[in-house]
Amino acid sequence: MPGDPQDDCLFCKIVAGHIPATIVRETDTTVAFRDINPQAPTHVLVIPRVHYPDAASLAAAEPAVAADILRDAGGIAADEKLDSYRIVFNTGTGVGQTVFHAHAHLLGGRGMTWPPG
Ligand code: AMP
Ligand code: ZN
Repeated sequence: MPGDPQDDCLFCKIVAGHIPATIVRETDTTVAFRDINPQAPTHVLVIPRVHYPDAASLAAAEPAVAADILRDAGGIAADEKLDSYRIVFNTGTGVGQTVFHAHAHLLGGRGMTWPPG
């Protein structure tokens, strides 16, 4: 079924508690945890409990959960007292997506350039 856990998915294993993570927020629909290889002082991944390969496919199938991810990212940014931050959804290998379970990167705590590299 679309959205069901995938045996070979790292983030499904984190959702299930089979792989440890530094969790900063959990809801009925989402889990947020610190990136293992942080690219900024705050680098948190916000993921849905359900498995979809990328953000757009999640939003098409379960738009309320996609909105939950944005809500949680904003809440965590407030908790971390970030007045500026970036939310990134890498989609596709060409722009660096390596885990094919939808996730938002919440990045903040340093200056960033635009356009992104
Ligand atoms: P992306 O490249 O957009 O697919 O992002 C995947 C992110 O997952 C990368 O920033 C990785 O550093 C991060 N990551 C990989 N394994 C783990 C893990 N076990 N715990 C936390 N973050 C991870
Ligand atoms: Zn998954």
